[in-house]
Amino acid sequence: MPTKAFLTEDEMPRQWYNLAADLPSPPQPPLGPDGNPVSPDMLAPVFPMNLIEQEVSQERWITIPEGILEILWRWRPSPLHRAYALEKALGTPAKIYYKNESVSPPGSHKPNTAVAQAWYNKEFGIKNIVTETGAGQWGSALAFACSLLGLHCKVYMVRISFDQKPFRKIMMQTWGATCIASPSNQTQAGRSILDQMPDTPGSLGIAISEAVEEAVTDKSGETRYALGSVLNHVMLHQTIIGLEAKKQLQKMGEKKVDIVIGCAGGGSNFAGLSFPFVNDKINGANIEIIPVEPFSCPTMTKGPFIYDHGDTAKMTPLLPMHSLGHDFIPPPIHAGGLRYHGMAPLVSQAIIEGLLTPRAMHQLECYQAAVLFARTEGIICAPETSHAIAATIQEANKAKEEGKEKVILFNMSGHGLMDMAGYQSYFAGQLVDYELPEHEMGDALKAVENLPKPKIVKTGKW
Ligand SMILES: *Cc1c(COP(=O)(O)O)cnc(C)c1O
Repeated sequence: MPTKAFLTEDEMPRQWYNLAADLPSPPQPPLGPDGNPVSPDMLAPVFPMNLIEQEVSQERWITIPEGILEILWRWRPSPLHRAYALEKALGTPAKIYYKNESVSPPGSHKPNTAVAQAWYNKEFGIKNIVTETGAGQWGSALAFACSLLGLHCKVYMVRISFDQKPFRKIMMQTWGATCIASPSNQTQAGRSILDQMPDTPGSLGIAISEAVEEAVTDKSGETRYALGSVLNHVMLHQTIIGLEAKKQLQKMGEKKVDIVIGCAGGGSNFAGLSFPFVNDKINGANIEIIPVEPFSCPTMTKGPFIYDHGDTAKMTPLLPMHSLGHDFIPPPIHAGGLRYHGMAPLVSQAIIEGLLTPRAMHQLECYQAAVLFARTEGIICAPETSHAIAATIQEANKAKEEGKEKVILFNMSGHGLMDMAGYQSYFAGQLVDYELPEHEMGDALKAVENLPKPKIVKTGKW
């Protein structure tokens, strides 16, 4: 009985899959502050033009440049595992598979897009990339990519994580990046926040403002900004995960998958695994596709579909997405990567179409699932990934009740070896479940009441 499927480097996909080409109701364009669609030119100071072209592309397949393949080959194709030990512990007739994205050097799926973004920036003549990071997963992935490509990388890291989570910061340093605490005195945005609130712990919104400001004010023209999730080109770069998984399931003798699951913060690892299967579903396949989020930050299950800013400081264009409002500050759960107020426009539109069935999970059930996974499969997962595992366990238990041999595939988006503090709190009994009270949701949504509204376009097929 094979426990995992590998692909050779030759078998690795040579193209990314763009769901925008196949969604029956394509996502609506981002809007500028005046309510009109943002033109590619307006984004030019922020992103290199080759990535802006990908962002708006309607091509179904986009060729992966050789220079990117060469770097991805260092750890890709990633293995697909059959979770025999977990199945046995659950006593389920379901067959559980997981795509292991924790094998990248920074330990998650994020390098799939970090490498691509750094490569396109370099190709465009850019020398410096600036970004923000919360807990440090994205910052370390981009630092890794820039180091291999010889670009300078600067990361504004949210002050509280900078102080409390030193290891990701040291990873960035090891890969040669500059990591500074945000708010900093290096930008206008940072200085004005520090004037008003010298002791602020910082926020992702503030860090984005600092990074974007630095990119757009650099007069040399050699600096751009990079974002690790949410945008269309990020979803695109991650589809290599699902494209590989399809080939690997075939090697394992599976003709059909019944359920596809991924955790969703901004949506990129979920989209990466699931979009090739969403394509199958659009073409008639019967697959349940489940993005999983925390109850404490219920963007997809409770947030309305609206036009909203990607950041607190309202520097980004308005994106059509499920959102809890750009001012929303989620409770301090350990899955830092799932504490984002919005959801990728492509994932959001697929939800509107009924192609996806989002689910929310509680923190304690997720840690319980993570510990069971560690004690059966052996891998200590990231707190974000535990949401996908918990939903997989729910589905495997359901298959057991129904007596059905379902094929379940989930994305092991990353390992948790830098996040042991969360496990420590769990074992000490210090973690609690947060469910967002309705009235708190309303508060953050007041800030978006006067923004333009997207159309709710739905074919009604799913
Ligand atoms: C960042 C991160 C996530 C959440 O981000 P998405 O863009 O939704 O994928 C999930 N898992 C891990 C391990 C992460 O690092």
